[in-house]
Amino acid sequence: MSRTTKLIELRCPEHMRPGQRETLVSEGHVCGYCHGNGFFWGSDQYGHRTKCPCPVCNGSGELDAHIGIEWKARKEAGDGA
Ligand SMILES: [Zn+2]
Repeated sequence: MSRTTKLIELRCPEHMRPGQRETLVSEGHVCGYCHGNGFFWGSDQYGHRTKCPCPVCNGSGELDAHIGIEWKARKEAGDGA
């Protein structure tokens, strides 16, 4: 079975300040909670079948991954951290 893999290439920015942070966004991942359907079947107050939006993706069926990166000074090896 084929599958798509996304990779992150980490590269230290040329112009930065101490504690620099950056955020990457990877869009359009299939929601694992509803498997991309965007809804679950439920029933309304009258017992009629109704579509209930997925609480994780709000009915879109997809999620965006927001990945935070914080650049910090490297600690010396063996300092227990
Ligand atoms: Zn969902």
